[in-house]
Amino acid sequence: MTINNAVSNVLMKSKECKTCEPTVIKHSSMDPIPLPKLYRLRSFLLTSTLLGMAGLGIYELNSVGSQAHFTIGVRTITNMGLIAILSNVMRRLQKSHHDLDQMTQRCQDALRLLDVCAVEEDNQLSQTLTVQDLYNNAPCGYHSLSPDGIVMLINDTELKMLGYDRAEVVGKMSFLEFVAPESQLKWIEKFQVLKAKGIVKDVEILLKSRNGEVFPVLANSTAITDKCGNYLSSRSTLIDVRKRKKVELALQKSEAQYRGIVEDQMDLICRFLPDGRLTFVNKAYCEYFNLDPDSLLGKCFTPMVFEDDRAKVEAQFQSPSPDFPVTTIEHRAISASGQIGWQSWTNRAIFDESGTIVEYQSVGRDISDRKRQDAAMVKLTKALELAVVGIAEVNYLGRFVQVNDAYAEMSGYDNAELIGREWWQLIIAEDRSKAIRAYQTMMEVDRAEVEIRSVRKNGEIFDRKIVLVKAYDENQQFVGHYSFTQDISSCREVDRLKDEFVSVVSHELRTPLTSIAGALDIVSSGILHTRPQQAHRMVTIAAQNTERLVRMVNDILDMERIKSGKITMEREQCDLAIILQESVEVMQMLADTAHVELKLNTDSVSVLVDRDRMIQVITNLLSNAIKFSEPHTIIDVATSLIDPSSSNHPVTFQLNKPSVLVSINDRGRGIPHDKLATIFEPFQQVDASDSRQKGGTGLGLSICRSILHQHNAPLWVESNLGEGSTFYFALS
Ligand code: ADP
Repeated sequence: MTINNAVSNVLMKSKECKTCEPTVIKHSSMDPIPLPKLYRLRSFLLTSTLLGMAGLGIYELNSVGSQAHFTIGVRTITNMGLIAILSNVMRRLQKSHHDLDQMTQRCQDALRLLDVCAVEEDNQLSQTLTVQDLYNNAPCGYHSLSPDGIVMLINDTELKMLGYDRAEVVGKMSFLEFVAPESQLKWIEKFQVLKAKGIVKDVEILLKSRNGEVFPVLANSTAITDKCGNYLSSRSTLIDVRKRKKVELALQKSEAQYRGIVEDQMDLICRFLPDGRLTFVNKAYCEYFNLDPDSLLGKCFTPMVFEDDRAKVEAQFQSPSPDFPVTTIEHRAISASGQIGWQSWTNRAIFDESGTIVEYQSVGRDISDRKRQDAAMVKLTKALELAVVGIAEVNYLGRFVQVNDAYAEMSGYDNAELIGREWWQLIIAEDRSKAIRAYQTMMEVDRAEVEIRSVRKNGEIFDRKIVLVKAYDENQQFVGHYSFTQDISSCREVDRLKDEFVSVVSHELRTPLTSIAGALDIVSSGILHTRPQQAHRMVTIAAQNTERLVRMVNDILDMERIKSGKITMEREQCDLAIILQESVEVMQMLADTAHVELKLNTDSVSVLVDRDRMIQVITNLLSNAIKFSEPHTIIDVATSLIDPSSSNHPVTFQLNKPSVLVSINDRGRGIPHDKLATIFEPFQQVDASDSRQKGGTGLGLSICRSILHQHNAPLWVESNLGEGSTFYFALS
């Protein structure tokens, strides 16, 4: 096709006036003519007819279907361009003095026709262009090869891929020239297959671009054949798989690494389906259960869970959700050898797009040792909590972090009250420096022991022995100390009592022994040989002291045996009035000697007591009352029934249930207030001379209290100095 110079000239001008204001054809009798956006081939013809009529040019059209020129025309003549052309036509027509109205009418008719045709052609062209555009700019390469492999058609993408121009390739080059040497044989073979079978699919070959770069492509081809099935050309797509290959390689590498990591893990790793069937197990998993992968994969893991724990495990797999896909569980597992061990698992549920669990991947470890330690720790903690020894954990600031019950009880505080307090606050001021020294020793040698006095919450001071043990964390950093504490007040008291007992006993025993030895010495020396009266007196002294000695030794043994529970009380139902009567009779002689009157005032009352021991108690109390009474005074022995809930008797505070109260009241010297409690302790007397003057041992009341204690009966005394004393005991 050729377009004559006049048209070319107009076209050139129309290109140049792209920035011009659009010129709208106007005429007094006409509305503005709407112009189509693009004018197609027929538009050209009509426009050119107009131009021809105007004597502006002649064109020739050899082939209506020549797309190349057609495309140029379409691309060149824009709306603006056509307006420019028509404006030009108008001007030229005016200059030619033709009948303007007639020409305008024809022009208008022509343009209307153009409108109709243009819309139709616009659609066709648009489709053709779309296909062409798609062909050339497709993301993959397209080409067609002649039977001898010459490139007949090739799209822009493939040309770009290879680095060539269309003109150099189409009709000139064989596709084989683009195939890298290592893939050429394969390509030849596949091209033969294509020609023979009409299709080849997913052939991966290496191409070589103009700049020498070799790259992989995936080719798919179909053959276009004539009616007899003879190959005419191919239609092939080429996908550049460089990126995919890279990703594949990277994926393979990372999978290999991942597998390596998973396989080398000490932890047990597995994947399984929602029904429990294993899809992957690592080496550690196989080793734990002593099974090879083949005997595990595809099998459900549930039988390897200890029976009692299965429900717990199954329930746990119901709980994950896409928002919380991870769960943890500890359960027992059974190995192939039947051994039961503890495992800890972290399970991650894998969900599909619909939120359904498709698989689990789990990491587990053997925690049997930890479980054993935990169990031991629980026992130990329990033991420490219940320990009689006070145990406290103190931080590096010296503040209590934790204390056991024994520690709290010892100090008189609640556990919670102690937490946060400084440990040395419980120590009395005078002993704090001693405690600090022990602390310093502990800091140096990890352990120290000290005996110090502490203060209970109620202010009471008590002795305690503390063992301080330095505490470290898992990084061997000092974090504080443990304090193991024993209340040694009672030990101290026992020690004190023992010391006192030994000194008193040795003193008490030595006194009569010295008398006996002295008296016997004199007698045996013979110096009283001629003085029988004096010799007799010496022997009497020896005999009296021996008797006292025997009494004392008996009392000591008695007391010891009662206190240690070696003597059991033979309790029987007795009439207390009779027991009191007998006791009074036993002591009557002594009372007579002391010129003291014993007065008994009692009613018959049945009590469950050890009769002999009860007589021992009463006679001992009577003996004291007689000893410490002035001559010609009265000792009242009485009983009364007391119900503490209804009675207002002054002694009811000593009782907590209805009791028979026995009272022995004398009008003797009385007992100082500060001795009212101590006289019940062994060897405790109001006056040191009492034992000498009154012949006592200081053990009687202690024995009485022990006997009555065995009867759950309290014993106490009320006294006013110089007025007398009343000893009470209550049997219930
Ligand atoms: P003992 O009488 O053998 O010395 P006890 O234990 O029976 O020993 O008494 C201890 C002390 O209590 C006596 O030594 C005495 O000082 C004091 N005591 C006991 N009973 C009386 C009493 N009725 N009046 C005054 N003091 C008493």
